[in-house]
Amino acid sequence: MIKRLRLKFVLINMLIVTIIIGSISGLILSVTRMQLENETRSTMDTLAHEPYRLGSPFTNDDGIRLPYFVVDINQYGIITATGGGYYDLSDTDYLTEIINEVSDTDENYGELSDYGLRYMRSDTINGQRIVFTDTSYEHAALKHLGTLLLSITAVTLALFLGISILLSYWAVKPVDKAWKQQKQFVADASHELKTPLTVIMTNAEMLQDPECSPDLQSQLSSNILVMSNQMRGLVESLLELARMDNGSTKIVLEDFDLSAAVTDAELPFEPMFFEKGLTLESSIEPGIRMHGSVSHLKQLTEILLDNAQKYCSENAKTTLTLKRQGKHCILPVADEGEPIEKADLENIFKRFYRVDKVRTISHSYGLGLSIAQSIAETHHGKIRAESSGGINSFIVTLPVI
Ligand code: ADP
Repeated sequence: MIKRLRLKFVLINMLIVTIIIGSISGLILSVTRMQLENETRSTMDTLAHEPYRLGSPFTNDDGIRLPYFVVDINQYGIITATGGGYYDLSDTDYLTEIINEVSDTDENYGELSDYGLRYMRSDTINGQRIVFTDTSYEHAALKHLGTLLLSITAVTLALFLGISILLSYWAVKPVDKAWKQQKQFVADASHELKTPLTVIMTNAEMLQDPECSPDLQSQLSSNILVMSNQMRGLVESLLELARMDNGSTKIVLEDFDLSAAVTDAELPFEPMFFEKGLTLESSIEPGIRMHGSVSHLKQLTEILLDNAQKYCSENAKTTLTLKRQGKHCILPVADEGEPIEKADLENIFKRFYRVDKVRTISHSYGLGLSIAQSIAETHHGKIRAESSGGINSFIVTLPVI
């Protein structure tokens, strides 16, 4: 898919460049042709009025030397010709032939391409005067210009092809990254769903056994329920992330008291920490207000507190702080726990990333921090992780009103 995208990018680029260069070349050629023709025409005009005064060959205002000859036909049809010495005007057969060609047309100005001549016919007192000029120089100039433009076009196109190919790598890089992330996401999600699904299927198969005792039946159905709940949790997290990715989450935005929302989110965790022998301390500056979704900001606080109680050391202390800092507020959740490696800190917000891949805490899929990050970013905020001196901190920065 990425290869096809790159090919498309190069093709579109080349098409645009070819059209632009082709149009410019065509324009240059036709403007030059018109200019040359206009110059010749004005030269012929001058020659028609003063045919015998001019030098040989005629030099126009731009210093261009133009081979010419003038043919006068009197009322008796007698031909008298004069010219710049470039033509053999004694060849009356040739003169008659080209005069007949001119007579066959109604136009007073035109080109006899078979003879390489341009003509201009005008009436005189005694008859007609036809001025002929050589077009070979005009054609040679145009041919030369055409060849030059063609060479320039070929070199430019080759150059652009190289640049486009290089640019295509750069242009599709973000798409390539997103595509790989998407594939990884699907693979991880399938993998996470496979385990509870396998447990559910095995338990259900065992339940179908007619010799299954009532005690075992109750155990198996409770296993199925636990796994189904886990699966529901995972699917809900996946759906939430997917919705936030394409901006379809129904977020009710309002001005609200963030301090109150964080306090609300913290309350249910107090008995949980207590039961596990952990300490939860909080320092929440009152009256901090922001514009956003109350439920999502509560969810963000819950994710960080839930992680703290899951990953902190035994009898450890967790502190939850909320304070204003200019136009922003910071919301750090810090717990005492095993230090998180620098490499893990860089990846910790990635989907399905777990620092300890072996330790399997139920309901732990490595999606919580991804959701927390999405919530922070949806509210034009940021989240970062720090680990130093045995304290692991997750610091959220949000704009306030
Ligand atoms: P989950 O907790 O569901 O695994 P998260 O995205 O919330 O997913 O966390 C990703 C990983 O980051 C966790 O598996 C854990 O290894 C690490 N982590 C998260 N919070 C903490 C914390 N407070 N202390 C230490 N490690 C943490």
